[in-house]
Amino acid sequence: MYELTQEHIMLRNMVRDLAQNKVAPRAAEIDEKAEWPWDIADALASADLFGLPFPEQYGGTGTDLLSLVIVVEELAKVCASTALMIGGQGLGSFPIAIAGTEEQKQRWFPKLASGQHLAAFALTEPGAGSDPAHMSTRAVRDGDSYVLNGQKIFITHAGVAHIYTVFATVDPAKGSRGQACFVVEKGTPGFSVGKMESKMGIRASPTGELIFEDCRVPIENLLGKEGDAFKIAMQTLDKSRPAVAAQALGIAQGATDFAARYATERVQFGQPIAQFQGIQFMLADMETKTAAARELVYKAATLVQKGDREASKYSAMCKLFASDVAMEVTTNAVQILGGYGYTKEYPVERMMRDAKITQIYEGTNQIQRLVVARAMLSRFDRLS
Ligand SMILES: Cc1cc2nc3c(=O)[nH]c(=O)nc-3n(C[C@H](O)[C@H](O)[C@H](O)COP(=O)(O)OP(=O)(O)OC[C@H]3O[C@@H](n4cnc5c(N)ncnc54)[C@H](O)[C@@H]3O)c2cc1C
Repeated sequence: MYELTQEHIMLRNMVRDLAQNKVAPRAAEIDEKAEWPWDIADALASADLFGLPFPEQYGGTGTDLLSLVIVVEELAKVCASTALMIGGQGLGSFPIAIAGTEEQKQRWFPKLASGQHLAAFALTEPGAGSDPAHMSTRAVRDGDSYVLNGQKIFITHAGVAHIYTVFATVDPAKGSRGQACFVVEKGTPGFSVGKMESKMGIRASPTGELIFEDCRVPIENLLGKEGDAFKIAMQTLDKSRPAVAAQALGIAQGATDFAARYATERVQFGQPIAQFQGIQFMLADMETKTAAARELVYKAATLVQKGDREASKYSAMCKLFASDVAMEVTTNAVQILGGYGYTKEYPVERMMRDAKITQIYEGTNQIQRLVVARAMLSRFDRLS
């Protein structure tokens, strides 16, 4: 079971202050303008928060996954886009942590840990979303380099990142065992950022297309060996899904807290609506489900950290559960605010829009259910 140490609690309090003072006042504006907030990125870097996914010897904090999860949760209480800055830094760099050599880590981690550089993870393609085994981006070996051609879509941090971990097929006949993972740096000839998405939620987080046209990547940028990529991608998602779950958890808690306060202030029929049992029951369910999600998210982060054999299942379960809770809770928060909840005057409509993505990215919740069911059933011989 997880346990919060004194360090976790101090970290949570520090980030809570930063979130309230620096992030919350900007959250509605950056959502409205769909603006990447460099000032907030600088504030997170100054607080050393980009260092959370990295060991100390590369300039990181050397802390555990639970610390990262706690930070994402606190930021997401006020702004899910800002929380994704930290989650995305983990997602984009975990392939290097999983498969990179010492030389590769020394090359890329220090600037990522300081927040000077941002990372992105590029798996999804127009024809390969839930089914990345059928990706069509090609990498062809040519002397001491690989030449990449293809397209990735829906990539978080497109344009603002310097380091892209990109998945491509080296041998289509081998399917998922014929893929390789590369680090492509911003500015590499043949690599460009294409269309940027205009989104329902997490609007301050840029999401866009990556284009590779005869993009030559040196062999030193290959992570692991040819054929390792699918495993690297799956291990990365196991490590990163608790952060998506934490984003969902933070959104749910932020919406619950806001709705509870509002209910004590809004008067109808001569009394605060918080005195109506119908509202109290909604609030009680919101708080209960959010608290249950927190237990699962923290437990999953702890199991992933330990490399427990149930880590993959718990990672999928926490993402699945916390994101479904976030969607339900934010919808009910809007309901508690009535017509005001539907307007941009209050943050709960943004929270409801932001919650939706947590059911979709890093594997939809249908895919999470497949992961959980397979992990459950694999121990029965006939179904494995
Ligand atoms: C804002 C945003 C940010 C993103 N960031 C990144 C990123 O940084 N890097 C990256 O690589 N990708 C990223 N993605 C992509 C995201 O992970 C995919 O959108 C997601 O995995 C689903 O793929 P898809 O959109 O192609 O949907 P599809 O795979 O086409 O799925 C469509 C529907 O079919 C269902 N479905 C598919 N297969 C099954 C099945 N076997 N059983 C039951 N139902 C099934 C799905 O659950 C879904 O409901 C991002 C997406 C968005 C919107």
